[in-house]
Amino acid sequence: MNAGVAIGDRCQVCSDPTTEHCFAVCNRCAGAFHLALRQDIPAKDCGQVWISEEYMALEFACNACLLRDGDIEDERPVRVRRRYTKHTGASAAAVVRGRPGGRR
Ligand SMILES: [Zn+2]
Ligand SMILES: [Zn+2]
Repeated sequence: MNAGVAIGDRCQVCSDPTTEHCFAVCNRCAGAFHLALRQDIPAKDCGQVWISEEYMALEFACNACLLRDGDIEDERPVRVRRRYTKHTGASAAAVVRGRPGGRR
């Protein structure tokens, strides 16, 4: 997967080349972006990574996609809204189904 993206590709967000220690592939646009992979090396983050509780897997998204999808506002580093966790609880469909007299 994402075989066409490699370390050194230009970042989707800032257009600078990614490096060995500052690289990730966006799950949404499949483009490379800067993500610091090591704490001990100063690097910039042009996106975010978090754990999807739905898939129990790491999800990567560049700031361009986060901004476009409304997960972040401006370029201020705010936490990604955890929209994925909503699916693990009572979904809207389950609530409607379990409520007698609810809309069908
Ligand atoms: Zn970048
Ligand atoms: Zn992206």
